[in-house]
Amino acid sequence: MERKSQLTLWYWVALIGLLVGMQYYLIDSHAATIPYSDFKTLLAAGKVREATVGQSTIAAQVDLTGAKDLLPASEYQRLLALPPGTGGAQMRRVVTDRVDDPQLTQQLEAAHVRYSGAAESPWLRMLVGWVVPIGLIALLWVWMMRRGMGAGTGLMTGVGQSRAKLYVESKTAVRFADVAGIDEAKQELEEVVQFLRNPERFRGLGGKIPKGVLIVGAPGTGKTLLAKAVAGEAGVPFLSISGSEFVEMFVGVGAARVRDLFAQAQQRAPCIIFIDELDALGKARGVSGLGGNDEREQTLNQLLVQMDGFDSQSGVIILAATNRPEILDPALLRPGRFDRHVAIDRPDIKGREAILKVHAKNVLLSPEVDLGVVAAKTPGFAGADLANIVNEAALHAARENKKAVEPKDFDEAIDRVIAGLEKRNRVMNPKEKETVAYHEAGHALVAENRAHADRVSKISIIPRGIGALGYTQQLPTEDRYLLKRSELLDRLDVLLGGRVAEELVYGDVSTGAQDDLQRATDMARHMITQYGMSERLGQVTFDTTRPPAFLSVPQAPQPVSYSEETARIIDEEVGRLIKDAHERVAKTLTEQRGTLEALARLLLAQEVVDRTALDGLLSGHQKTDPEHPTAAAQPQREVAAASSLLPRARSAG
Ligand code: ADP
Ligand code: ZN
Repeated sequence: MERKSQLTLWYWVALIGLLVGMQYYLIDSHAATIPYSDFKTLLAAGKVREATVGQSTIAAQVDLTGAKDLLPASEYQRLLALPPGTGGAQMRRVVTDRVDDPQLTQQLEAAHVRYSGAAESPWLRMLVGWVVPIGLIALLWVWMMRRGMGAGTGLMTGVGQSRAKLYVESKTAVRFADVAGIDEAKQELEEVVQFLRNPERFRGLGGKIPKGVLIVGAPGTGKTLLAKAVAGEAGVPFLSISGSEFVEMFVGVGAARVRDLFAQAQQRAPCIIFIDELDALGKARGVSGLGGNDEREQTLNQLLVQMDGFDSQSGVIILAATNRPEILDPALLRPGRFDRHVAIDRPDIKGREAILKVHAKNVLLSPEVDLGVVAAKTPGFAGADLANIVNEAALHAARENKKAVEPKDFDEAIDRVIAGLEKRNRVMNPKEKETVAYHEAGHALVAENRAHADRVSKISIIPRGIGALGYTQQLPTEDRYLLKRSELLDRLDVLLGGRVAEELVYGDVSTGAQDDLQRATDMARHMITQYGMSERLGQVTFDTTRPPAFLSVPQAPQPVSYSEETARIIDEEVGRLIKDAHERVAKTLTEQRGTLEALARLLLAQEVVDRTALDGLLSGHQKTDPEHPTAAAQPQREVAAASSLLPRARSAG
């Protein structure tokens, strides 16, 4: 195929060369075109020797001797540069466009010019100069389109075919055992494996087999891995291509690739076609605004045509992956296409442990390592992140010349993956550091004082990554899918803890709490507008935006479906939730002022306070007697006023 397509390419190059040559021949290169007025000047001066008067042009031999002053300097130079014509070294050939000029013949005669008419055909000129090239280009275009849409061989074959071939894996080594933590998805695909293993038996039984299965899940959750495992388990070839690779610059190439992919798949059946990032080519048609994207639409149409065109009994199964199912063209999801959907969620704690085990198989772990603990510390992590953590932990252990990977290495790896590399050498001035210490101590202490908040596992004031100057890590005891109002309120309190601590200690706040406040406000707004947790507004949800299922993509603001009045009440309710939380937190932290100071000092001294150290500190500090009213028991504004009167914290440490 490669050689053939090269040959065709040469053929085209030769053809285009020929065309250029013809044009060159037609446009007399030994003559210069000059304005009619210049021609008349030369004629009047007796410089014209011979003329051929055609329908639209006049070709003439002119004598340049002594014509220097008759012509503009640049034109004279141009004529001089031409090769000499017949009849002398100063003779040149010129051409001029003919102007309707009744006196021309008289003047030619007066100047004793030998002249003749020419039977030149303007049609020939136009034909060779314009019609033929345009026709050829049109032909080439049609051919390329045909290559894209239908059968045939030619120039585009190589382009359409070479890519898809690269992605054929005749046998993948991945098995279901390598895919952990997503058992439901595995079960759903088990049927596909059974079919691929023995298509004849299935056919005999009249079993209905899906043509296309769409695997939906966040990035890194193992969609590709699962598709490969299906091929591996069934022992069939795995043909894969990414949706974004279909969409190329040339119109028709993507469609050609789709066709080629399916043709190859038919040859290798039973087999699996895997299309990664289906959304790249399967975006709903007609949403791309001005002009659209013809190439993508063509490719998508071709995919639909191919999917409809083959028989599901043929033993080819199409798996596709996407993390944005909501933007797919509905036509893709119709019966007979990707009508079966398998969702992969981020793994829960058990799943995470299982995934960690899979990846830790080839890593030497010290006996103290408990992967269950690592799993507990990584809620929300996808399979790819967990694989990354195991790898990072092993690298860390290797850097420190350890014989086995220890829990400390895992902690380091988690920190790394969570918040970017530690920047121990970043210089933070002591005052800033103290502020961060109080801020984080505030978060931690509030968390410890709320029944429904997750326990604190680690507090750190080592700056890491961009933006985060310190952090308080809370260790959830279990994965949560439902949260009660009381739990949300406690989380709100924890979020505000940092800022309130700064208020209490300095009577002033820093910009460091911005992210906390943002999250607190979002949470409060959600409680009111989506979870119906406001007594005043009742059990009503207000937000009309449907968030995308797996990824947060920026969305245009939706028109709101409630009145100005309701909007105002929502704002008031959000404000009230935050204000109440602020009050509660101020009360707690004022009561625990001693502990707050002690914790901040410990943080400044050690930079990191883990659970054990925190327990030690908490048991050493008796809680203030709640019976005694403090400033925090009063309304919030007065608290703020009172706290600003508190003595400034001494520089601890
Ligand atoms: P996706 O296609 O969903 O973006 P991948 O399948 O490419 O994710 O996953 C990337 C890598 O993460 C895999 O090669 C594998 O090492 C790891 N991984 C992801 N999910 C899992 C899982 N459930 N079990 C084991 N490893 C996983
Ligand atoms: Zn904070």
